[in-house]
Amino acid sequence: MREQHPIIAERFPDLHPPFAPQAAVVEANRCLNCFDAPCTAACPTHIDVPKFIKKIVSGNLEGSARTILDANVLGASCSRVCPVDVLCEGACVMHHYNEQPIEIGRLQRFAMDAFHARGGKLQKTFSGTRVGKVVCIGAGPASLACAAELAQHGFAVTVFERCPLAGGLNTYGVAEYKLPASASLREIELIEELGVEFRLGIEIDAGSLAEIERDFDVIFLGVGLGAMHRLDIPGGDHSSIVDALAFIAAYKTAKMIHTTGKVAVIGAGNTAIDAANAAKRLGAEEVSIIYRRKRESMSAFDFEYEHARQEGVHFLWQTIPVGVSADGGMLEFLECVRVDDRLAPIPGSEFLLACDLIITAIGQSPLLELLESVKDVALDNGRVVVERATGQTTNPRYFAGGDCVNGGREVVDAVADGKRAAIAIAHQLEAAHA
Ligand code: SF4
Repeated sequence: MREQHPIIAERFPDLHPPFAPQAAVVEANRCLNCFDAPCTAACPTHIDVPKFIKKIVSGNLEGSARTILDANVLGASCSRVCPVDVLCEGACVMHHYNEQPIEIGRLQRFAMDAFHARGGKLQKTFSGTRVGKVVCIGAGPASLACAAELAQHGFAVTVFERCPLAGGLNTYGVAEYKLPASASLREIELIEELGVEFRLGIEIDAGSLAEIERDFDVIFLGVGLGAMHRLDIPGGDHSSIVDALAFIAAYKTAKMIHTTGKVAVIGAGNTAIDAANAAKRLGAEEVSIIYRRKRESMSAFDFEYEHARQEGVHFLWQTIPVGVSADGGMLEFLECVRVDDRLAPIPGSEFLLACDLIITAIGQSPLLELLESVKDVALDNGRVVVERATGQTTNPRYFAGGDCVNGGREVVDAVADGKRAAIAIAHQLEAAHA
């Protein structure tokens, strides 16, 4: 397992430090163990929240972790990255009593940290080998959940991934103060120990897909999304413009651990916030987020916005970039203009924003070239069309889940997709070989 670079560890300490054992029990004791627990209903993977919390109270941390893992094999990373305010904790009945919701995310992390610290392993539900070979394309959360579930049921699973490390956004794209890459890789080691074969650094294209179809019975597409949209303005190809995911991946893998000068981040989603906060923590003297609409329209969660403000990030609302000025190769200014509610430029409102680095976070394109090459798999606006209950595509041998289906939602949504598809794949293979 790779350890954090010391500078990254120092600058990106845990955003929500873990519970001490006694504090965890005190918090767990507040839970009312609701019969029809709305927290469980609000979790896309339907973790039995009152059950795992009750086991923390009784000191059964192993049982608590297993309750979490039964529903969500990435229970450790989800405990750190889930937007709990809008999921389980947002649904907690404590809100009705004007009390703080139970800190479900931190309790989940407490149980999962203890599990990993003890060297806990994932368990198989079937000890033999079942007939049928499955391949997952992409090693992000959807594929990991699918692969783990199938391996636990005794199927042979291979995962292909174009990056040198598995985990997708969990490893490369989540702010380090939420989820260190090392924590993501630790979860993947456990999946590997189930017998899942990871083939890393392999790009799958139309040609290799034909080969894969020959070698495997079922194919799960967990390919995520493609590159960030490019900045389509004069000077938008300057070498000091990077996309937010590449910027985050660079510091998480310690390829870049310092940022200097002034940074402009274009976009106002959660990835833009993560990149802006990272630039600040890596040493940028000033970081501004530029967004074309008003504050209330930004797609980042409210708590992410508040966090960025606390980090010292400035926000320029109703502003769009119109050009990039450079002096002899050195980036100088982002040329901006204010816009009205209909995004029309306001005459005379042009201004220059001094910057040394521009980070774009303006959405990702679908991996159209690959997806369009898959025979008989229908797409809708670049997203793979699936049957909701099974994740099966319009080609019965193909299943799909995660961002390539939903356009980019939470890690926990991808995990739910992967597990759902795995159960349907297992049924299909068992029926075919009965
Ligand atoms: Fe406990 Fe809140 Fe869930 Fe009720 S809704 S079971 S109080 S965490």
